[in-house]
Amino acid sequence: MALSINDECIGCGTCVETCPVGAIVESGDVYIINDDCTECYACVDSCPVHAIID
Ligand code: SF4
Ligand code: SF4
Repeated sequence: MALSINDECIGCGTCVETCPVGAIVESGDVYIINDDCTECYACVDSCPVHAIID
């Protein structure tokens, strides 16, 4: 898994709507990127607090 969401995430949900393959999902209190990710990096640019890193 190349991309992950770090502790800076504020839970805004923007990346969830941005992901074209629905690979970002809620897991308890946090968001995670699952194996459906194609590494298109669209979410990286969409995150307002730059919480998605590789
Ligand atoms: S890199 Fe692309 S496919 Fe992967 S989680 Fe982000 S938006 Fe979705
Ligand atoms: S866009 Fe960034 S801050 Fe918003 S839910 Fe996704 S990872 Fe968290």
